[in-house]
Amino acid sequence: MAKLYFHFATMNAGKTTMLLQASYNYRERGMHTLLMVAGHYRREDDTAFISSRIGLESEAEMFRSGDDLFARVAEHHAHRALHCLFVDEAQFLEERQVWQLARVADRLDVPVMTYGLRTDFQGKLFAGSQTLLAIADELREVRTICRCGRKANMVVRLGPDGHIAQEGEQVAIGKDAYVSLCRRHWEEEMGRVKPEDMVGFVRG
Ligand SMILES: [Zn+2]
Repeated sequence: MAKLYFHFATMNAGKTTMLLQASYNYRERGMHTLLMVAGHYRREDDTAFISSRIGLESEAEMFRSGDDLFARVAEHHAHRALHCLFVDEAQFLEERQVWQLARVADRLDVPVMTYGLRTDFQGKLFAGSQTLLAIADELREVRTICRCGRKANMVVRLGPDGHIAQEGEQVAIGKDAYVSLCRRHWEEEMGRVKPEDMVGFVRG
């Protein structure tokens, strides 16, 4: 049976590159894939493109809140058999949309590969990621590293002024930058732990 996969990581870990490469591998063998990406922060009339930092890109359908993803994928599948469904920015899926994707795997027997962020800049799970972590068949971490060389599993947001945001909306589009850090350096950058308070308890 087909499976539902969740590839999760912080920002700038190369998730989209992996997605585009995996889709390309299917298409190179004459198989059909469908790509979806969150439309929440794109203009209504935008042609949806998924593009990666290293220059790969591919056309994609947008998903938005309230869309029935099972119905949409089933329609595609009836028209032309799909061999794999790819979903980027999966953190923006609704809980019920994750279940709809599970049905794509379970009822249509089409594998579903989702890619997204695990947590936001405050270290909280995104709704889509929470449900994917709960019900996906396979969880795969896409690794990237902190400036110290440890695995980066957290992200901080830099505002337009270059300062780290402590509070605010879960998503800020356009004017903000993100930096991936290990948990230890994330806590320090967020001001939750002062290195000097740790003197006497820990070394370094
Ligand atoms: Zn670090």
